[in-house]
Amino acid sequence: MASPRTLVWFRNDLRLQDHEPLHRACQQGGEILPLYIYDPRQFGQTSFGFPKTGRFRAQFWREALQDLTTSLEKRGSQLIIRYGPPEKIIPDLVQQHGITHLYYHREVTSEECQIEAALAQNLAGLSVQCQGFWGTTLYHPDDLPFPISELPELFTHFRQAVEKKKILVRTPYPVPAQLPPCPELGPWAPPPNLEPEKAIPDPRGVLAFVGGEAAGLARVQHYIWQADCLKTYKETRNGMLGADYSSKFSPWLALGCLSPRYLYQQVKAYEAQRISNESTYWLIFELLWRDFFRFIAQKHGNRLFYQSGLRGVKVPWRLDLPAFEQWRTGQTGYPLVDANMRELAATGFMSNRGRQNVASFLTKNLGIDWRLGAEWFESCLIDYDVCSNWGNWSYTAGVGNDAREFRYFNIAKQSKDYDPKGDYLRHWLPELTGLPGAKIHEPWKLSVTEQKQFGLRLGVDYPRPMVDFFQSIQRQQRTFPGT
Ligand SMILES: Cc1cc2nc3c(=O)[nH]c(=O)nc-3n(C[C@H](O)[C@H](O)[C@H](O)COP(=O)(O)OP(=O)(O)OC[C@H]3O[C@@H](n4cnc5c(N)ncnc54)[C@H](O)[C@@H]3O)c2cc1C
Repeated sequence: MASPRTLVWFRNDLRLQDHEPLHRACQQGGEILPLYIYDPRQFGQTSFGFPKTGRFRAQFWREALQDLTTSLEKRGSQLIIRYGPPEKIIPDLVQQHGITHLYYHREVTSEECQIEAALAQNLAGLSVQCQGFWGTTLYHPDDLPFPISELPELFTHFRQAVEKKKILVRTPYPVPAQLPPCPELGPWAPPPNLEPEKAIPDPRGVLAFVGGEAAGLARVQHYIWQADCLKTYKETRNGMLGADYSSKFSPWLALGCLSPRYLYQQVKAYEAQRISNESTYWLIFELLWRDFFRFIAQKHGNRLFYQSGLRGVKVPWRLDLPAFEQWRTGQTGYPLVDANMRELAATGFMSNRGRQNVASFLTKNLGIDWRLGAEWFESCLIDYDVCSNWGNWSYTAGVGNDAREFRYFNIAKQSKDYDPKGDYLRHWLPELTGLPGAKIHEPWKLSVTEQKQFGLRLGVDYPRPMVDFFQSIQRQQRTFPGT
């Protein structure tokens, strides 16, 4: 029998560590062809017309590909890059180059699954063995105490079930020390310039994110070991300003440059060597949220993207585009919302606290179709993850898997609680820097004399609130069934 020739198709798993498809290919022996395919659909538009991949994520992704190329070359291999739909490119490669095996990581959401299904169809009749592996979550779905079809709808029930059964997190696969040389496949036509313009880093951003496994591992070293932040993560994680209030692992997790199982191993090593406390547990707790949304997406399929959400909640959402525009550009008159929306547009990142508040404002105060917000996030976020984004959006909008009553974030209170001195607001809202202390949270309360004193003309330099906070909440609440 001819020796194996294995195509390892890299997707949202741009790493060598804990990479089961690559590991299996190495175990099998023979030739290995690492492949990445630029799929032009990634650079299309969302249904509301935003670029599907904004400039910050595109840049991060380019850097991650470069890093993967370098890592493969260091181990004696190389990354084959192709351009086009994978379901067409791969069968061509299989036929032209006598590929015997195809290994890749499976995805769960519709566009990715459609590609996998079309690929399987196009490979039918060719003598290639295909295998998809699971590699995106902390827990392997086969280890869960229930089939995905019976996944609890509430996060707490899911967490309690996995914790009670003491499910083990599988050990990460090792990085191969050496790889067999990759055969030359001949020239290929490079893709047209599909990518958005270069992202210029904004010095106000929380972190100069650099794509790739090497930078991801360096961030882990910094956050957990050098700066020793893990021991206080639970107390600091709701911050909004600075590099280390939270881990910032999300962009690397989203593109698969870091594996959650590797992070788990690091947390366990930290607990053994330094301290085990609520904060160290809490990072795992948050990674469980990530798992939960992925399994929920797998369970519910396309319902994740439905306007009525996972629970089929019928709300007469508005498509008020001028109001959406005020939200999108950070001109709502609510400083916490505006600062966060401007941060997102300028850097591609926003804290978890910020995301919850701006999503609540769009859906519970403005009553605007939550999918507009989710698509804008999809376009902008450097850490966009289809399951976490759409899962969190539908949850905050009140159409996801949250059984509780109509809930909203009190924006002014959140602002005072999580940014008591207004440092975050001043960082992103130059027109409000003259306001002293706590006055910055509710500029609409300034008297005319105070406005003169602090050099702010409300409605000219900074907008008046676009809606009355509590009236708009009540109006929206009335539209929710059963409230
Ligand atoms: C409306 C909305 C949209 C969101 N969209 C995304 C998205 O597209 N991609 C994304 O990775 N996260 C998303 N999140 C979750 C969360 O805001 C980010 O994961 C987090 O802010 C990233 O920063 P961090 O890595 O410093 O988080 P940390 O607080 O350090 O958390 C560690 C890791 O846990 C995971 N995590 C934490 N909170 C959540 C959560 N609520 N849901 C799922 N995973 C979580 C992330 O992988 C994160 O990197 C969204 C949240 C909301 C409310």
